[in-house]
This record gives sequence, structure tokens and C-alpha cells, in this order.
Amino acid sequence: TIGMLAIDKDGDIAGVCTTSGLGYKMKGRVGDSPIIGSGLFIDNEVGGAVATGMGEEVLKTVGSFLIVELMRGGMSPQKACEEAITRITKKGPRYKDFQIAYIAINKSGEVGSHCIHKGFTMMKYQNGENKNITSSYYNS
Ligand code: ASP
Repeated sequence: TIGMLAIDKDGDIAGVCTTSGLGYKMKGRVGDSPIIGSGLFIDNEVGGAVATGMGEEVLKTVGSFLIVELMRGGMSPQKACEEAITRITKKGPRYKDFQIAYIAINKSGEVGSHCIHKGFTMMKYQNGENKNITSSYYNS
């Protein structure tokens, strides 16, 4: 999945994601990406979030909506992404085997990202500059 979040000069937020779904998926499977609130959620009053990875677990926790709601309550994008990952990993040891990553942005243009396993990066473009950001992670 490729996810993108953007904020313009007026502070308006937009997001998009595109995916081929999981490799070897069952016929008819619908992942998290096309489900608003799971793979992607934007609330222009608060911010936005997008997910990649094991869609079933993102769906069960309505992850992107969760992140936006946590930011609505005052949490930073980074902390909100961490909390959404914790909601999955705390379910038990086997949940730590999945890879899931979130990125998020708030109305101030602050961003965050967190994933289960080391190795997820995102690109931040601001003021004409691209910056490669290595996501924090739960497991090595
Ligand atoms: N999230 C996608 C899905 O579960 C897969 C992916 O991110 O690669 O369909």
C-alpha cells in the first residue's frame, strides 16, 4: 500500500492510499485500504492517518479513525500512531509477527509514524525539501 497525506497553505488536509492488497490473498478479500476509517481517514478539523500492512488487524481496530480521534483528544500524531500499533500488539504474541505501519498528520502540520517491525520509512516534503524519515517501531 502507498499512503499519502497532505496539508496545504490554508491548513486543509487530504489523503489517499492505493494498494494491490496482500500477496496470495483469498479471492474476494477486501483489505483495509478501501474502507474509510481503517486504511485511511481524514477529518479536516483534526488531521489524517493512513495505514499499510496486515489489513485484517487494521480493520479490527479501525486504525486510521482511531488515530484521528486520539489526535482530536490532543495526542500528537506520533503518540497516536504508537497507540494504534499498541492496540494490535497487546492482543498477544502472534500479533507481533505482522507488519503494520501508520503515518499521521495534524492541523499544525506535525507528522508521526510508527510500525511493528523495523524497516518502515516515509518521505516528508516541506518547503521544497524531501526528508526521509525512519519510522519508530515496536519490534526489531
Ligand atoms: N493493507 C493492505 C491490505 O491488507 C496490504 C498492504 O499494505 O500491502 O490489503
